[in-house]
Amino acid sequence: MGAPNDRYAKIALNIPVFREFTYAIPEEFRGRLEVGNQVTVMFHGRKTRGFIVQFLAETDVPENRIRGILGFDPFLPPLPSKLLLFAKKMAEIYACSWGAALEAVLPGSLKRRNVRTVLGVDIQKRPDEILEISESLEETREKQSRILRHIVELCPPVPLKALLQRCGVTRSPVDTLVRKGILRLLRIPVEDEFLEQSKREFAPRHCLNAEQEGAVAKVLAFGARGEHRTFLLHGVTGSGKTEVYLRILEEVRKMGRGAIILVPEISLTPQTCGRFLSRFPDVAVLHSSLTDATRARQWLRLARGEARIVVGARSALFAPVKDLGLIVVDEEHESSFKQQQVPRYHAREMAVLRGKLEDAVVVLGSATPSMESWQAARSGRYELLELPDRVGGGRMPRIIVEDMRSEKPIKGRPPVVSKRLEILMSERLRVKEQVLLFLNRRGFSPVLFCNLCGKTLQCPNCEVAMTWHSARGRLVCHYCMREERHPELCPTCKASRPVTLGAGTERVEDWVRRKFPEAVVARMDSDTMARREMYEKVLGAFRDRQIDILIGTQMIAKGLDFPDVTLVGVIAADVGLFQPDFRAGERTFQILAQVAGRAGRGEKEGLVLFQTMNPSLPAIQMASRIDYKGLVAEEMEYRRQLSYPPFSRLVRAIVESQDSQEGWRSIEALAQKLEMLHSNKGFQVLGPAVAPLARIRNRFRFHLLVKCLNEKAFSLVRNCLAPYEAKKTRQLRFLIDVDPVSML
Ligand code: ADP
Ligand code: ZN
Repeated sequence: MGAPNDRYAKIALNIPVFREFTYAIPEEFRGRLEVGNQVTVMFHGRKTRGFIVQFLAETDVPENRIRGILGFDPFLPPLPSKLLLFAKKMAEIYACSWGAALEAVLPGSLKRRNVRTVLGVDIQKRPDEILEISESLEETREKQSRILRHIVELCPPVPLKALLQRCGVTRSPVDTLVRKGILRLLRIPVEDEFLEQSKREFAPRHCLNAEQEGAVAKVLAFGARGEHRTFLLHGVTGSGKTEVYLRILEEVRKMGRGAIILVPEISLTPQTCGRFLSRFPDVAVLHSSLTDATRARQWLRLARGEARIVVGARSALFAPVKDLGLIVVDEEHESSFKQQQVPRYHAREMAVLRGKLEDAVVVLGSATPSMESWQAARSGRYELLELPDRVGGGRMPRIIVEDMRSEKPIKGRPPVVSKRLEILMSERLRVKEQVLLFLNRRGFSPVLFCNLCGKTLQCPNCEVAMTWHSARGRLVCHYCMREERHPELCPTCKASRPVTLGAGTERVEDWVRRKFPEAVVARMDSDTMARREMYEKVLGAFRDRQIDILIGTQMIAKGLDFPDVTLVGVIAADVGLFQPDFRAGERTFQILAQVAGRAGRGEKEGLVLFQTMNPSLPAIQMASRIDYKGLVAEEMEYRRQLSYPPFSRLVRAIVESQDSQEGWRSIEALAQKLEMLHSNKGFQVLGPAVAPLARIRNRFRFHLLVKCLNEKAFSLVRNCLAPYEAKKTRQLRFLIDVDPVSML
């Protein structure tokens, strides 16, 4: 509590300036504020949020320049001091301001507490009329036309936020459509169906096998002493890692301590949550499709100690769990644990930091650990725990690499599905077992291509090919969401009609439905699963065996535990392998091992086919043997030679500019700045260069990558580049990404 005579407070503001600011505490707030309270103040003429980080009895700032705190929310508990400190360290690591890091800990949206409705959009006319209007607006008002098409697809009323996100637009075209009387805004009630569904899931409590037992005991040896230690739990798919987390959690709760369980957003299914909810009474769940109000309620339950466990995606790491004793990061290799906006933190690395600050044990689990964590375990910084076998005598699936070059072409092109996979599918259908078909590419075809002049159709705003979505009947840019009709003639040579090239999930579905008209088929990707309810529904139906063949993107690759899946087909195992990213091989291995792990989780043996045009590539070969150690040997050698993580730390700088020359000049200026640090030999600069995604939303993109060979060089480089993030203008943006996971 602030002493009554403290007249000033230091406030960390959510702005890209790396210092705190002093404000006066008005008479009426004195004695009521605490360190950790969120307040609003004026900063350069704008209302800005910030957190009190310190009280001051006096200040050097002249009396006439000091402003007062405008307001605070007396119902929002102040952030505990450990979270304040945690945010401060995170800000240092990821080169952002303390206030920006705190905004991630306690988002401003938490203020709207008791509302059980959200702002939604509904249609004012019949769906067919809406689609007609959409057609008529297509040439002149592309964004409005896009919004109308999507709102019909989504079955209105739809939450406004979800609609904007899906269409990649701001609110203003929606407002225009409202003014025209085509759409209307309304408040729609929301219930948390997700939690209700999760409660119906049940996790039987198994007798642990010896390896599981050993892992639990090693973690608890530290946990029981209230001592921090990080463990890397490496267990093949189906080895019972979740049961290990649950047992550790039981003991941690018996000691009266709380826990955070982080899972990738995509595997935050009722199945996962149900496993925790059915064993513990005091679980809160946090995920991105919760409304602000629900999120706020969950947050307050944790802050008050009514819930002591949180299961959630990345941002749940900041939950105000009381007396934190355990943090679990499941699927720790997932790149979605890295946030792509400020603060650009990596939840896995921050979990270790938070564990340290709170004397909690940290368990990172994966079937295919990241090279970073593996190296940390090898060097003794973390402790390695291994579950080498599937539980209950289950065997790993058999994997066949299918060389698609030797398939008989259909109309000159390789078939979507090989003859062998087709036969295997029909066999599975006959005996009523289930099939998964995986392809990490949505739409019907990733490219439209002109046979005559050889040009592909690109988005006018971005330098990327547009994807053909046949269900919607539109070409879609997956970066800016722009949609266009299928052109009659190639826009370049105007002599021939462009044709599709390559396959996405829609084409696979189309093929399956034609080949197996009697089978029940579902497709799961972000086009069909626009609303979370649909996702839950399909998963439920699949578990109840009402679906024979499930086709999908990475949505079906993770965490699903369905014993009747005996066949998994990977349509194109090499998607992603040729990305200009040093982690491309590691990621391909991880995703293939994950998907393969969905097969044969029950009594029946699983079979997996990797279709590929590049059967001899090491990542595919090693994935086909699930030879994680082989991957490690190969990757580590390559990374050591080229000084990539884990043998260095990276800082990436990106410049995005409407003007290409200005952008290039700016990235060169950055490079020169780094050159001036040259006396330090601890880092290497790659670039500057045009970024692989050279233009997005009409902004030209340039980047450079710094490999820092030691911590000293790392902090030197970071401190040199950090201030740039604040130098953004309307035309020019700087992004400083510390420990980046995306190289695009
Ligand atoms: P992972 O997370 O490693 O992929 P899971 O925790 O999902 O593995 O476990 C796979 C399945 O095995 C689950 O259905 C789980 O209930 C079951 N299971 C876990 N531990 C045991 C055990 N010791 N004996 C029998 N079954 C187990
Ligand atoms: Zn685009």
